[in-house]
Amino acid sequence: MMIVAFLTLMVAAWQVSSWLERFWAFRRDYKELRKLAPTDVDDSRLCTEPHRWVESPAMTPDRTIAQVTVCAVCGFVPSRNIMASQYGLERILRNLTAREEEDIIEREFLAVEERCLRDQFKEEIENGLNFSKIVAVHKLGQTVNTRYLDCKRRVYERVQTKIEGGSDE
Ligand SMILES: [Zn+2]
Repeated sequence: MMIVAFLTLMVAAWQVSSWLERFWAFRRDYKELRKLAPTDVDDSRLCTEPHRWVESPAMTPDRTIAQVTVCAVCGFVPSRNIMASQYGLERILRNLTAREEEDIIEREFLAVEERCLRDQFKEEIENGLNFSKIVAVHKLGQTVNTRYLDCKRRVYERVQTKIEGGSDE
């Protein structure tokens, strides 16, 4: 009887703790959202010099994502006549920097790809056509699906040749 009571207590404690956990998670998300929520226009925060506009994705009140113009210095959003909170503005700027870095990586990747192709073509022009290399380059541009079908076809042909060879004997 004692064991059953103890177990019940343990289950109850576990349930309460998981409930508490969810409550704290909700509170944390709520606080985070509160910090991100835009405010009314605060004249003391508005730029005295011309605003510096940036484009940023933002969540609208109906929970869709829209592209808005926001001042990177004071956080003023002219289309809605609101201001990004200080915390929200920091997040916007951090996201924009991250996206710029992604663009740089992408550009570098494309530059390397292009250089590889240029080198390949240069070699072709200097040394004449190399069909195996052309085929290899071509294959890189194929989709996974095409490569898979190609592989299947090769296996099929190999099996077919084997069967025909066997029947000849
Ligand atoms: Zn401004």
